[in-house]
Amino acid sequence: MESKGKNLEAVQAMNRKLLLKLLQQNSMCSRANLAAQSGLKQATITNIINDFISWGLVEETGLIEGNKGRRAIGIRLKDDSYYVIGIRLSRKYFEIGIFTFMGELVGEKCRRDLVETRPGAVMDSMQKIIEDMLAKNSGKRVVAIGVSVPGPYYFNEGVIETITNFRGWKKVPIMSELQKRFPLPVIIDHDANAGVLAECSLKVDPERYRTVVYVAVGQGIGAGVFHNGEVFRGAAGIAGEIGHASVNINGPQCECGGRGCLTLYVSTITFLEHVNENLKKLGRPAIEHFDDLIEGVREKDAGIYPEFKSMMRYLSAGIINLIYSYNPSLIIIGDEMSHIGEQVIEELQAHMSQIIERKVVDHAELRLTSFQMDPAFVGAAELAIDYTFGHTELLRN
Ligand SMILES: [Zn+2]
Repeated sequence: MESKGKNLEAVQAMNRKLLLKLLQQNSMCSRANLAAQSGLKQATITNIINDFISWGLVEETGLIEGNKGRRAIGIRLKDDSYYVIGIRLSRKYFEIGIFTFMGELVGEKCRRDLVETRPGAVMDSMQKIIEDMLAKNSGKRVVAIGVSVPGPYYFNEGVIETITNFRGWKKVPIMSELQKRFPLPVIIDHDANAGVLAECSLKVDPERYRTVVYVAVGQGIGAGVFHNGEVFRGAAGIAGEIGHASVNINGPQCECGGRGCLTLYVSTITFLEHVNENLKKLGRPAIEHFDDLIEGVREKDAGIYPEFKSMMRYLSAGIINLIYSYNPSLIIIGDEMSHIGEQVIEELQAHMSQIIERKVVDHAELRLTSFQMDPAFVGAAELAIDYTFGHTELLRN
């Protein structure tokens, strides 16, 4: 039970994690800044930061502008002491990279398109790449591996229930399968949860937005919810999994057993299929990749644009469900669909204000992700970073 008392070790671990998260958000600050933001006493800060410096985790940077114009010693997370590996698994490919504790990719990422989708084969391929990557970077201290996966993912059991449009991925115990392949801690979560964790750790002002929802609209759709400093996972870890929330109880059958699930109407895969049916009727050639549709959306192409509008209508219904379920102050749209740009936000806002009261829409700011990289890829690394910040014993020699 969460409400039980905390022993000294647990309090210490909690305070360390809090300061590491603040250092990650601030990129550079003073001990006094940390005291003000954390509410901890200056002496506690000094002790913890001394430990961090002795573990090579934090460094002093010289004088910076402090409170009331006074100069103070700047501190920041060192970006060359410890690293994590991030893996983003999607239906068509996976990508792997080494990241710093500031969530920055080091060198090139490795991407593999999935021709063979059997879980065992995919994980063997991941293992081989990671072993090569670790061998090539033997001078870097990699401390954990984070993995973001399409859902529904049962976080507490470490099992992927089923991934629509992804052959062979039913009831896959991915946590135990990956953990036995690597000597490092492996942390796995739903891609939308990884996305919201990355957004709230690296981009969003946590004081301004207490409840944030990240909606991953890609080859499937899901949402991650961040509330009061943590990812909200619910009883089994599937909170926010709106891909399988129905928007039409008389709709078509979904692979999950339900009917009219949102994912049947909103995904880049469905979008491409519908557009190609249209183009066929118009006697035009088929489009192969989602990215090749984007220009057509922007130019309001007659074979493409109506499908985009229809899909945004379903997506707005899904977002309204999220607003009424979690009442977020910020909703971020990411994954492949966000590549279209601001048109997504404009279209959603137009639909939403037709359906629900202006007041409801006004209380939930809607925007596209500001990450250049896929938030679920950075988020995979952030899963590992977040875990390490809570388990600093991994950082001691
Ligand atoms: Zn479903």
